[in-house]
Amino acid sequence: MHKFTPEIEAVAAEILEYSLNRLKSDPPLDGPRTAEDLFNEVGNTITAQGLGGHEALQVFTEVLAKACISTDHPRNLAFIPSAPSELSNLFDLVVGASALYGGSWQEGAGAVFAENQALRWLSDLAGLPQSAGGVFVQGGTIGNLSALVVARAQARKTNPGVHRWAVMCSAEAHSSIASAAQVMDVEIIKIETNSERTMLGSSVATKIDEIHSLDDLRVFAVVGTAGTTNLGIIDDLAGIAAAAQERGVWFHVDGAYGLAALCAPSIRSKFNGVEKADSFIVDPHKWLFAPFDACALVYREPHLAKEVHTQHASYLETLHDDSWSPSDYAIHLTRRVRGLPFWFSLAAHGTDAYSEAMEKSLQVAKDAAELIRQHPRLELLREPELSIVAFTRPGWSASDYHQWSEKLLADQIGFIPPSSDQGQPILRFAIVNPWTQMSDIQAILATL
Ligand SMILES: *Cc1c(COP(=O)(O)O)cnc(C)c1O
Repeated sequence: MHKFTPEIEAVAAEILEYSLNRLKSDPPLDGPRTAEDLFNEVGNTITAQGLGGHEALQVFTEVLAKACISTDHPRNLAFIPSAPSELSNLFDLVVGASALYGGSWQEGAGAVFAENQALRWLSDLAGLPQSAGGVFVQGGTIGNLSALVVARAQARKTNPGVHRWAVMCSAEAHSSIASAAQVMDVEIIKIETNSERTMLGSSVATKIDEIHSLDDLRVFAVVGTAGTTNLGIIDDLAGIAAAAQERGVWFHVDGAYGLAALCAPSIRSKFNGVEKADSFIVDPHKWLFAPFDACALVYREPHLAKEVHTQHASYLETLHDDSWSPSDYAIHLTRRVRGLPFWFSLAAHGTDAYSEAMEKSLQVAKDAAELIRQHPRLELLREPELSIVAFTRPGWSASDYHQWSEKLLADQIGFIPPSSDQGQPILRFAIVNPWTQMSDIQAILATL
């Protein structure tokens, strides 16, 4: 049936060889170029006759791929980089080759079964009941939005007269919460954090009571952040859970980055309270060694999500039975089984390997903080709570930071774009890659 011509056979060999080499060898960092510059080199690649596989692959490997920063480079400590395990990357090739459909149980039962076991591991680590479950969505942004839509639907059931809704989160919460509020056309109430920069349950309780006593505005969800993206700070999850639950408000935990460390025994207790969550998210593509793009979205009571997110259409009705269809648990219909590379790596390596890799990046973060503390020109911003190490170079202006960062990338030493904290420019290392060694940290610090 498949027409694997000799030409395609040859391209297949080239693609597999390129992929294996990319996975085996340390990639260069590379870096961006302008669209004009790229056009001057490759021209219009979409032509009536086609370039042929060999030529199109050349364009990619020789030009386009080199204009993309390697997010898995051990000295890429920018934003939250990526560090997919070799096995998860390899299995992504299998997923691509297999034409798997991950939207319904009917079409993808075996794959969905495997994804669900990976979700179960995360749900068990968080301490949710066996009845919990969810789905892998594209990213934390869609995960947060999908969960908050369920939370509001739930609140509407018990408060039918309310027309103005609000989601509450810390002033340090991720921008995706504000984005969700905007999409949902609800208000967002940001709570000031305490001196340790965490949102406390007592502040949440006071603010909810104040709002509910004043007007017709009602809080339908409180979002606790388990690891802020900029600094890795964890909210008072247990306190927030109690405050929300005493008031009948949904408790969602945004752990896109940080909840990965649920599998690190040394710091598991920092997440106490997450077991009370009505829903939580964690992105395996951030700190759980999976390729883009995969966010695990887990609900305590998944049937509530199914009520809200199931799409109804004549051509879909045959799918609606009691089986578990991932499409029913978030804002999406067609989906690739994006959780499978994560599942494969987890199944192959075992969960102990995950705990070890996690402890390793936590140790590198601690050691990096110590080096910065001893550095004559640098100042540690705060003790790293997870694996983000933030610091400043007193006396430097924002433009000094930018120039340093650009040179660091141009010299292909590392990728560390400046960030800011409370209006001041800062630098931060986001350490999620088990291949990031102290020698990498030293090489970067030597340029400061
Ligand atoms: C990264 C992040 C998000 C957004 O996740 P995406 O996968 O980038 O959409 C949300 N919340 C937190 C805390 C994050 O770190």
